[in-house]
Amino acid sequence: MQVNYIQVAIPVPMRQLFTYIIPQNINSAELHIGARVVVPFSHRQVIGIIISTSTTCDIEDKKLKAIISLVNDNFRFPPTLLNFLQRCANYYHHPIGDVLQLALPVLLRQIEQPTIDLATTWHELKTEIADESSVAIEKAAKKAPKQVALLSLIQAHNGITWAEIRTLGFTKAQLNALEKKQLIEEKKQNPIPFVYQDSTLAEEEKLTLTVEQAVIVSAVKQSFGEFSCHLVDGVTGSGKTEVYLQAMERTLAANKQVLVLVPEIGLTPQMLSRFEQRFNLPICLHHSGLNDKERLQTWLAAQRGTAAIIIGTRSAIFSPLHHLGLIIVDEEHDGSFKQQDSFRYQARDIAILRARLLNIPIVLGSATPSFESLQNALSGKYRYHQLTKRAGQSTQSKITLIDVAQQQMEHGLSGTLKKAIENILKRGEQALIFLNRRGYAPAINCQECHWIADCQRCNKSYTLHQGQKLLICHHCSSQKRIPYQCPSCGSVRIKPMGQGTEQLEERISELFSDYSTVRIDRDSTRKKGELAKLLQEVSDKKHQLLIGTQMLAKGHHFPDVTLVAILDVDGALFSFDFRAAEHMAQLLVQVAGRAGRESKPGKVLVQTNFPEHPLLQDLVNNGYPHFAKYALTERKQALLPPFSYQALFRAEANYPSYPEKFLRSLTEFSFQGCQFAGPVPAAMEKKAGKYRYHLIVQAKSRKELHLAIYQLIHHISQNEWQKKVRWTVDIDPLDLSW
Ligand SMILES: [Zn+2]
Ligand SMILES: [Zn+2]
Repeated sequence: MQVNYIQVAIPVPMRQLFTYIIPQNINSAELHIGARVVVPFSHRQVIGIIISTSTTCDIEDKKLKAIISLVNDNFRFPPTLLNFLQRCANYYHHPIGDVLQLALPVLLRQIEQPTIDLATTWHELKTEIADESSVAIEKAAKKAPKQVALLSLIQAHNGITWAEIRTLGFTKAQLNALEKKQLIEEKKQNPIPFVYQDSTLAEEEKLTLTVEQAVIVSAVKQSFGEFSCHLVDGVTGSGKTEVYLQAMERTLAANKQVLVLVPEIGLTPQMLSRFEQRFNLPICLHHSGLNDKERLQTWLAAQRGTAAIIIGTRSAIFSPLHHLGLIIVDEEHDGSFKQQDSFRYQARDIAILRARLLNIPIVLGSATPSFESLQNALSGKYRYHQLTKRAGQSTQSKITLIDVAQQQMEHGLSGTLKKAIENILKRGEQALIFLNRRGYAPAINCQECHWIADCQRCNKSYTLHQGQKLLICHHCSSQKRIPYQCPSCGSVRIKPMGQGTEQLEERISELFSDYSTVRIDRDSTRKKGELAKLLQEVSDKKHQLLIGTQMLAKGHHFPDVTLVAILDVDGALFSFDFRAAEHMAQLLVQVAGRAGRESKPGKVLVQTNFPEHPLLQDLVNNGYPHFAKYALTERKQALLPPFSYQALFRAEANYPSYPEKFLRSLTEFSFQGCQFAGPVPAAMEKKAGKYRYHLIVQAKSRKELHLAIYQLIHHISQNEWQKKVRWTVDIDPLDLSW
């Protein structure tokens, strides 16, 4: 049958496909679903994706435009991936063109075709004269221990890419030095699918499993080739990574690929090294630190089957893995799996969808499972596995509350805490001080007239960054010089108010001047490679005092830290956000789990004004699982997620009445099983000059919710206010604060 028309997804904010005519000079047999075409759109040319073809069309031919050309490079979305992405677009009510565009590497979104070089990998160079290289290694060992460490990494994993080497904390200089010494060589990688051999698995690296671990490994292996979701609820240090590694064996042995999602690559070098050492197979990393060329290489390695294992952050879920056999989501509770702008997907949730569509198993792991996953496990929807024992002899860090209401505070530190820090420093151990507030001070004010430096666009105070000598708004990123005089009364007595990590670092260095202090937050690790460098310095014990934000609660383990201090938890106890307590508990337990080792268990001190608060008491005395189950019964009574389903409409405009009226007009409709809450001003009512309002739609079932959202979006297209506001819809919203 003659195909005359194609339907194309285009990266525009419209929830529809666009129909084009196929011109004479293009052979319709070459137009494959999922391939890229160049099409005219308004006054420009764009890359579109072919979604379907047809022989007839309802629109008159003269009203249609013809496609310009077919991008004939064989890089197209495989049908299973395309189907998955369409399901995602439907679920999140997001324009399909935008979703497909996000799943495509930047270089394939451009009309100009990229030149694609073969990926190169690094290998150990075996010389004829073995003595020569061992002399060179010996010499290097003394002067350059990092070079030796890099060499053993390359030896352990023959064929590692520069992107991986860099992510594991090594520099180009170290790599070049090894090449100059003729210890390693670069090879072009053959783009052929990987093949599992007996020598692939480093048996000697395998750890003996506990009974609990063995049960999980065998359950995951048994579900090979069929969909099942396993929640591994295991305290930190209980050996989840070993479970992942052994559960992967069967999939890899069948020459199927494994996708591992992690919250943040830079903080998990220890885990990456273990993957490298266990399997002599091509592993690809996918994260935001890659440049466009590296991203395309990773995409191709996934598509061609060259990569056996892909380890990546959130957006790695869109990798075009051709032979995917198993998905693992580590630290599944982590908020960074949720994209917070434009296409607001939750990578963990759509990973489960992808596993279901492909009929493969998926493993979710966490020491502090999200309430959503826990409820699915408790209700029997997921297979529920618990790892209650820490590997080896180590015990879980104990959490103790410090009542600060009665204490004299010095720079945010109570006397009790100060003494505890002194004690462990004397013993030669390390302390981690946790404060979830970057910058020097959350505000500056005038001591005479109490004027506060506010960002006019957000009505929130500027954060003082002393190091950069700037005032920075953490909400819209606008910057301002620090005023010398108060603009209101002319006084020069302008002082910082409150305390951020930058100031804490300064104060702690003064208080404990005999010891070295290091700060790890988004500001101090902005430079490429800086995070890996600082983490290395901590493990080399160059610093005794470690100050950080929630970044430190992710993945990385500090065996010599025996004291963790949490300066302030009170904000979460009285938040309007019903998830605040859940997140606070996860953070506390996660930070606690990063500390200590078998011989030196860690201790966690938490400063609070409300030591009798029932949630804190439950968490401290009974642990996370008990706390979570209790909090879930509260959610059930209040009919909050996971016992109901929510969508959040956000709207903003230059005037507060516009978003308010726009959202109010939506509440005039009614839908079966659905309720509206709002419209209300967002917690952060003004941001970057725009007034923001929220409307929550809540339903007892997903089906009812989606039906309502679908109809509401249809109503919006005919709404008089829609042109005056910017609006978005967020399905299963995680953060209600903005
Ligand atoms: Zn003043
Ligand atoms: Zn601002």
